[in-house]
Amino acid sequence: MKDRIYIKDLKEHVGKEVTIAGWVNVRRNQGKMVFFDMRDMTGRVQCVALPSHADMIEQTKEIRLEWVLKIRGLVNKRPDKNINAEMVNGDIELEILKIEILSEAAPLPFDMSLDGYNLELTAELDNRSLILRQQKVQAIFKVQETIIDSFREFMKKNMFFEFQAPVITPATAEGGAEVFQVNYFDKKAYLTQSPQLYKQIVVSAFERCFSVNKIFRAEPSSTTRHLTEIVSLDAEMSFIDSWTDVRDMAEETVRFILKQVEKKNGEHLKLLNATVPVMLSKTPTLTLREVQQKIFERFDRDVRGDKDTNPQDEREICEIIKEETGSDFVFVYGYPTRKKPFYVYPNAEEPEYNEGMDLLCRGIEWLSGGRRINDYNQLMKHVEIWKMDPEKIKMFMEAFKYGVPPEGGFALGAERMTMQLLGLKNIREAAMFPRDMNRIDERLGNEGY
Ligand code: ATP
Ligand code: MG
Repeated sequence: MKDRIYIKDLKEHVGKEVTIAGWVNVRRNQGKMVFFDMRDMTGRVQCVALPSHADMIEQTKEIRLEWVLKIRGLVNKRPDKNINAEMVNGDIELEILKIEILSEAAPLPFDMSLDGYNLELTAELDNRSLILRQQKVQAIFKVQETIIDSFREFMKKNMFFEFQAPVITPATAEGGAEVFQVNYFDKKAYLTQSPQLYKQIVVSAFERCFSVNKIFRAEPSSTTRHLTEIVSLDAEMSFIDSWTDVRDMAEETVRFILKQVEKKNGEHLKLLNATVPVMLSKTPTLTLREVQQKIFERFDRDVRGDKDTNPQDEREICEIIKEETGSDFVFVYGYPTRKKPFYVYPNAEEPEYNEGMDLLCRGIEWLSGGRRINDYNQLMKHVEIWKMDPEKIKMFMEAFKYGVPPEGGFALGAERMTMQLLGLKNIREAAMFPRDMNRIDERLGNEGY
């Protein structure tokens, strides 16, 4: 549409005739005049049919919410008493001269005009295509766009090479049952749970790599923080001296993303009433055993000796660290070696604990990573102990046979981060088209959220 002006630019055209195009957002009849707001991807503006244009008043009477219009109008300053300083374009309005109807809309199933109108999440997802038109919902995905863009930007700045990880895999990287099997001609294959093994192969050739890719987890339960299809922000780096190099890179990556969100999404954060979590110049780092001791001392709950943290532990340690240091983030490392995947590096002094780590924030895990085993023989030993079939990961093992430097990496879930950064209650709000046990666009079951 060549003659179209975006709504955000209207203020530069005061006193002039322009053409805008968009959706009818809110409609008000007021005595002799008709008002409605028009919305395009850049903003909103109030349009008015004045009594001096009787034909326009007549035409606007039939117009309904969400109709798509092209409007020719005159950009006027609003009378002083009608100025709304809080709103973009709150000091101007468009006097309607001509309306072309581009598309009509059926009557709406609920009141869309109340901005930020909150349906129950189940109903929101049942009406996804309409709900996506709401400003607050769009704000969530604009923040998510920044998260993913900034991850990519930071990686490239640090000489990480972007590669495309495959989705169809012959074996599972993480082990466990949470995997979708697919019929692959007359054979079995799996949807990837993680690009882990491919990252490590790529690192053996490119030194540093990252990928932004879909991963799939057949999560059998319906929690507020798990989906079955997510965007994984994955990084892997070699020539490290210690797992702490990986931790520091993960920390700086998250710090950069947070800064970019603050810089680029100020209006969205405001709209969603969200504040970016506090990251200190050095995020506190604790071993799993220290975490368990702290929980014992502070909450008198004995989880010492547990092999991993559970959701309550994660909430409690975040609360303790926040109180003690002001940090919203905490790194936890040193998990029991046998409880984690075969490729995680065991600590040299205490081989029963590994150099795997998690980054927690606001009570939930955001990121996992750590150092990996790079020595072929040690890796092969683990393959045996973990009872894996070396044939199934032949390509991976082959890379390590021919020299791989000390290396490690991490993975961050884009939806998890979006949810936690924005303080959303359910991860489904942070996925445009969420997949879970009960939903693939259409409902598979009757459970609500
Ligand atoms: P959790 O313990 O929270 O179930 P995990 O340890 O199984 O997560 P990892 O394999 O460590 O997950 O994956 C790395 C990151 O990917 C997680 O820290 C999280 O941000 C994200 N993630 C993993 N699984 C899911 C999922 N099912 N839904 C949403 N995000 C996920
Ligand atoms: Mg994890």
